Amino acid sequence: MTDTMKALAKMRPEVGLELIDAPIPVAGPEDVLIRVHRTAVCGTDIHIWNWDEWSQKNVPTPMITGHEFSGEIVAIGSDVNRPLKIGQRVSAEGHVIDLNSEAARAGHFHLDPHTRGIGVNRQGAFAEFVVAPAFNVIELPDDVSYEVAAMLDPFGNAVHTAQQFDLLGEDVLVTGAGPIGMMAAAVARHAGARTVVLTDINDFRLELAQKVAPGVRTVNTTKEDLRDVMKELGLKVGFDVALEMSGSPIAFKQCVDTLIMGGGMALLGIPSKPMETDWGAIILKALTIKGVYGREMFTTWRKMLGLLKAGLDLEPLITHRLSYADYREGFDAMRSGQSGKVILDWDKAA
Ligand code: ZN
Repeated sequence: MTDTMKALAKMRPEVGLELIDAPIPVAGPEDVLIRVHRTAVCGTDIHIWNWDEWSQKNVPTPMITGHEFSGEIVAIGSDVNRPLKIGQRVSAEGHVIDLNSEAARAGHFHLDPHTRGIGVNRQGAFAEFVVAPAFNVIELPDDVSYEVAAMLDPFGNAVHTAQQFDLLGEDVLVTGAGPIGMMAAAVARHAGARTVVLTDINDFRLELAQKVAPGVRTVNTTKEDLRDVMKELGLKVGFDVALEMSGSPIAFKQCVDTLIMGGGMALLGIPSKPMETDWGAIILKALTIKGVYGREMFTTWRKMLGLLKAGLDLEPLITHRLSYADYREGFDAMRSGQSGKVILDWDKAA
């Protein structure tokens, strides 16, 4: 083992990422060092690539990006008291928290206000090696591939959003067919929803969604009227639950308009700027609105692995499998909107 590794980093406060040689990080006493095998590119990584307003405010440079990953443990810190082993196949929760915060001590690990993100404000996983706190490590079952394991982080967002309301036997609207929206639709199906409708304005993604979430009724809202689809599906009044994954003000309004009285709405999509909302409609419909952040540590993870075991298949979501050296192609695909998940392989260069 040499002491340098390949990594994809934001070296300067400007657009793009560079492939660099970086020192292999060293695990602290409570950390593990992980040899990364696969990573997935997230919308967050695109924000960082584009160096938008959010990134400029939140991402210090130089920074190795990437937080969706899988690999094997190659070193364990001296104070780690979890039964982890060298060679163990793992992924990790990318939100690193302060275990002494009030939220953490109350058992609400995902609500620690001082959360730091792997690949956002601490060195990330687009690299041959990454360090993570042992607390964050998720042991992988043998039948979960490294590729699928690299997508557990966003799958966790989907499951966490779907966890907010009871979906059993209910009519569920999912707005936004990005990877997390597709996964949320698949989860709603597995959770026993009566109908699941998934909306977007991107036909490529709606077609892909048919493979990721079979049995879901997809709707391109620029071509079809959601009201007509509701009629076709026998929805007399409206949806019971809406999962808003797009951040689009139009989609938000569609959720409010089509929910039943007393319906529930979980919000994961982040609007790009403050948006006008018809609060009167929300109040008079007695809607419950929940913001969703991250994943519950570690209830959501348990449910995710349970869903995979129960047959929910994430593989159809992968549209690109590339060597890390071809990262530009992967980022271009993500930015084009003509992709599902892009997987980067860190085992070998092309
Ligand atoms: Zn992500």
